Amino acid sequence: MVVTHPGEGAGEAADAAVTGTAGCPVVVRTADCPPVVLLGERSVGVVHAGWRGLRDGVVEQAVAALADLGDPPRVAHLGPCIRVGCYEFVGPERHEMAALYGSAVLGTTTAGTPGLDLPVAVIAALQAAGVEQVEDTAGCTACDPRWYSHRKRGDAERMATLAWLEHS
Ligand SMILES: [Zn+2]
Repeated sequence: MVVTHPGEGAGEAADAAVTGTAGCPVVVRTADCPPVVLLGERSVGVVHAGWRGLRDGVVEQAVAALADLGDPPRVAHLGPCIRVGCYEFVGPERHEMAALYGSAVLGTTTAGTPGLDLPVAVIAALQAAGVEQVEDTAGCTACDPRWYSHRKRGDAERMATLAWLEHS
């Protein structure tokens, strides 16, 4: 969704929010799914990039929404999320994800079971959308207790990832 004034869309379910309006924060809440921040010169966006959203093209759509504001993002930041070593992922969607983002998304967990590498999928989606610079400095929500994990520990809490423009 495109947010044009503070508070717009509050409480609505959406996997991505972008804005070109200064002083208008956009936020996603996550616990295991990758949070992504998109930075343009005069616009910003946030994305909740779980596997369903990735499959449905939410990252590419958010990049396109910023481009529609006249400002395609150049840089993306990937926040703390579950990493492949902790993320068992079985079922027919494995091959759907590999078809979309390449076989490198099909990893293995530390337990030796089939895993899904969400950061690899996010970076592939960003690069396909033209965002070449991706900063990924955060760790794994499942095995680092500094973060909340819905999947590993059943945490009810969520982490908030915010972005805003100070000046238009
Ligand atoms: Zn982990």
